[in-house]
Amino acid sequence: MNAAKNVPELFGSMVFNETVMQERLPKDIYKKLKQTMREGTAIDAEVAPVVATAMKDWALSKGATHYTHWFQPLNGITAEKHDSFISPTDDGRVIMDFSGKELIRGEPDASSFPSGGLRATFEARGYTAWDPTSYAFVKDGTLYIPTAFCSYTGEILDKKTPLLRSMDALSKQACRVLRLFGKDVKRVTTTVGPEQEYFLIEKSDYAKRKDLIFTGRTLFGSMPPKGQEMEDHYFGAIRPRVAAFMAELDEELWKLGIFAKTKHNEVAPCQHEMAPVFTTTNIATDDNQLTMDVMRRIAQKHGFVCLLHEKPFDGVNGSGKHNNWSISTDTGENLLEPGKTPSSNLQFLLFLTAVIKAVDEYQDLLRISVASAGNDHRLGANEAPPAIISMFIGEELQAILDALESESDYTDVVKTKMRLGVSVLPDIQKDTTDRNRTSPFAFTGNKFEFRMLGSSLNIACPNIMLNTAVAEELRQFADELDGAEDFRAAALTLLRREIAAHKRIIFNGNGYDESWVEEAQKRGLLNFKSTDEALPHYTDEKNLRLFQTHGVYTEQEMLSRGEALTEEYYKTLRIEALTMRDMARREILPACMAFEHELADSALTKKQLGMEGGAEARLLTEVAILNGALDCAVSALEQAIGAVPDADPETIAHYYHDQVIPCMDAVRQPADALEGLVGKQYWPFPTYADILFYV
Ligand code: ADP
Ligand code: MG
Repeated sequence: MNAAKNVPELFGSMVFNETVMQERLPKDIYKKLKQTMREGTAIDAEVAPVVATAMKDWALSKGATHYTHWFQPLNGITAEKHDSFISPTDDGRVIMDFSGKELIRGEPDASSFPSGGLRATFEARGYTAWDPTSYAFVKDGTLYIPTAFCSYTGEILDKKTPLLRSMDALSKQACRVLRLFGKDVKRVTTTVGPEQEYFLIEKSDYAKRKDLIFTGRTLFGSMPPKGQEMEDHYFGAIRPRVAAFMAELDEELWKLGIFAKTKHNEVAPCQHEMAPVFTTTNIATDDNQLTMDVMRRIAQKHGFVCLLHEKPFDGVNGSGKHNNWSISTDTGENLLEPGKTPSSNLQFLLFLTAVIKAVDEYQDLLRISVASAGNDHRLGANEAPPAIISMFIGEELQAILDALESESDYTDVVKTKMRLGVSVLPDIQKDTTDRNRTSPFAFTGNKFEFRMLGSSLNIACPNIMLNTAVAEELRQFADELDGAEDFRAAALTLLRREIAAHKRIIFNGNGYDESWVEEAQKRGLLNFKSTDEALPHYTDEKNLRLFQTHGVYTEQEMLSRGEALTEEYYKTLRIEALTMRDMARREILPACMAFEHELADSALTKKQLGMEGGAEARLLTEVAILNGALDCAVSALEQAIGAVPDADPETIAHYYHDQVIPCMDAVRQPADALEGLVGKQYWPFPTYADILFYV
């Protein structure tokens, strides 16, 4: 890499951000736009054309020739359609033009994006609408305008719109609660810092594996002699090639105004992580989508492929995404900051209790928000939290809640210094509680860390659930406490009642332990082991009510979204099953047969020479038996794929879960055993040992 860069100068250089807006927009227009961004008010009609022209002129100066409305359809990726700025003039030339209308509204064809049944009831027309709360940016010669996506009849078809709505809902209710404390806060926002895990593997290995190409994960492969047991990869020295990738990634992300902060090796071989500094949830969401995109692109340049699948390799850790979440006011106050004396910080305790109640009452929604065919391989597999939702709050807060509930005295813990016993090392301040890495939803000092997300997930989903559920609890709290004669007494009564009612969701122990599953069941906590089990609860009556109450989704939007999620689940499984069938029939079986042929030839020759068949004969028998078993298993899989019922999406999803997945497992078993027996030069694609331990 070249010499040290001036990072502050580089940072945000491709973003139409505050500085650029202030420079390029007339004062009054800038003020109006800022108001929209800060307070979530609607955009003024006269603002758009002025912003459009300024944006275009700026984009041209950054080398852009095109613009695109950038949106997040239901399939988790981001979508873009590029239009150039050219506009013909009368004399046959062109000028570069961009109108307010083009900035505000786009019209991609909605029929080619998942809509979950809405498609049948409306026209193909779809609209994208500019989201002025998220910055536009230039990437690869195109001006990207973050937008929301909806249908002709107004149903929303993306993940950004409900996220923005959920943020509005939470802001409204949180402001009501803050008013009870005499605070005039105009806007409360949730903040998120998503830690992104990923794998980097050689492009040449990737190209040889159909499973990686079609499904993003390996459908075959057994563990090499060395896995992650030596724990030598986590925080290990970074390979020079990977370091070069990371350096370029940082630089590209910084240019796009993304706060790339931390990078390190993760637990599994070839696994790494990037964490940004947290920001407002909708921007964090856009930035994370963009980060995944940039990661994939930069990896290619370095001869790698970046795998964002939740479980690319069986037997080594998969990849997750930790969603660090908090709530703060426009006056800069973090509402989940306990302060020095949390036990008497009534405001903190109310917000904390609202989150506890929300997580308990909407366990199902949180579980559903992270459910996918890919993440099913991680949750509960001793590398990620179990599929049961619980919360870790730590000893200190636990003691406070216990004291509150039992109306006993409590003395706040004083932070102590940790003496390292070496005079040259500074004494460091100790946190009042240790971390718990096994909890799905852990309090980490002044924020919660939701750890169940899979690495490829659009973080909008869990945050929509979280924001809306917390908004609902805050609404109930505000309703109850509004006009109370003795606010403090009423608040304490409410806290005691809610803590008693929802403390079952708090678990400070080891979430990976077997006994927790039993204990959780006794407490009546939900345990949806698979996506198939979880999804039908998306549209449970209480959930429909929640989203309607807060104007986040209509019933129709919920029903269609549930259907789209279900379809995505079984379509993923279908692609995996077909890929597996193909690889087994067309690559593994023929390879094993060729090997058998050589063994048979050799054994026969030996026999003709009067020698014993020896190793060849013995190996031939073993391979032949396994190959026979593989052939049978593939036939069974083919039959299962051929017999998918012609039914509603939920029935089809159940079928894939109950019938197809076991058939896939049955194919993998003999195939993986064969991998360990068949000569290396016969095996048709790179193995885990080849892929995970490159130089
Ligand atoms: P780790 O969980 O790996 O120990 P850190 O505690 O450093 O990491 O923080 C992880 C992430 O949490 C970072 O992205 C950080 O910016 C984010 N974070 C810190 N404070 C907040 C907050 N108030 N709201 C949301 N995210 C936050
Ligand atoms: Mg973390």
